[in-house]
Amino acid sequence: MYFGSVRFFKHVIVVVTIIFIVVPCVICFVLGSQLKTADEENEKLRAEIGSRRIEEYETSCDADELFRLYKDSLDDKQGFLKLVYEDDADGYTAAADEGKAKAEESAAAQASETAEEPDAVPTMAESADETENSGEAESTGDAGTTEAPEQEPEFTHTVEPDGTSGVTAAYEMMYPDLYADVPENIVYNSDMDYVYLTFDDGPSKYTDSILNYLTMYDLKATFFVVPDGSAESNARLKRIADAGHTIGIHTASHEYNKIYESVEAYLDDFKLAYDRVYEATGIKCKLFRFPGGSINDYNESIRDDLIAEMTRRGFIYFDWNVDSSDALGATWTEMYNNVTSQTKACNRAVILMHDYNGGYNTILVLEDIIRWLISNERGYKLDKLTEFVKPVQF
Ligand SMILES: [Zn+2]
Repeated sequence: MYFGSVRFFKHVIVVVTIIFIVVPCVICFVLGSQLKTADEENEKLRAEIGSRRIEEYETSCDADELFRLYKDSLDDKQGFLKLVYEDDADGYTAAADEGKAKAEESAAAQASETAEEPDAVPTMAESADETENSGEAESTGDAGTTEAPEQEPEFTHTVEPDGTSGVTAAYEMMYPDLYADVPENIVYNSDMDYVYLTFDDGPSKYTDSILNYLTMYDLKATFFVVPDGSAESNARLKRIADAGHTIGIHTASHEYNKIYESVEAYLDDFKLAYDRVYEATGIKCKLFRFPGGSINDYNESIRDDLIAEMTRRGFIYFDWNVDSSDALGATWTEMYNNVTSQTKACNRAVILMHDYNGGYNTILVLEDIIRWLISNERGYKLDKLTEFVKPVQF
């Protein structure tokens, strides 16, 4: 009889094994692979959407096109934003036309100047005469046609009258008017849970989109700029300033080897950028960010002197404690994860992003980062950097 037989129980064991072990394993395997595929498709889709937006953005050659791609989801603010942006766009066009001839002239002059490679940058060890003759002529050569020759310093090593300090470094005598007007004893704001968005290396066409997002969410940020003196650059600097954001100096050339060759070389580069910002906006910058941060592989030999000199002149530098890694080619997901995870680990966050090297990915992820920040349960407050914010330094 089959029922109750050994064969029957064998079959029961086989069936039970299949139902409780094999079937769940198969289901898990299938579901797992489906989830993986879905994940990959999701990532692909995101990349596709991104590149489609980029294509449209590029094809249009219109700086506000990317912004328009988002505006449908912003019905409540759309009219206001459109108005603001079109006003700005008109101003930009007018400014660009007005300054076009000047920019071309300036660019031509700069090209001819930069064709002449500098021989050497003076050091403190060099004699006063040598430095006086060669150092300044070379270093202000690319400062453009507006640079006044009266700032030529006397590079001398002097002994203080009281005999205490002994030597005055040559670079201390450069650009005697290059000082930041900041209070002596700053009382810093208490800024727990504040977040400071900072954008390096602009302005560029991406700056327009960033400014749109900041307007959209009524936020202020900080731009450490690389002004090139062109009409476009100047118009964008003006737009940043008019919107009430902070402009800090980054560099004029962003060439590490050149600017970190000596303190003098750094000051030359800084002064050029400083003057260009002033010319474009009327703003005398107080904040700055060292290219590569205050500690990098290029400035080791001059770092202490350089920081001491810039601090002596009143300028305040900011490094960062959150790095989106956009300039290193981070993907959307990497940028988002970098910023959110690192920000969570800070009491106050200075976030490094770029409006040049970061490019498209920075624009694509920026709004999502802003949304995460402003809706976070920690109640992050977003603001711009000023001299009253305690510097974040490496
Ligand atoms: Zn930079």
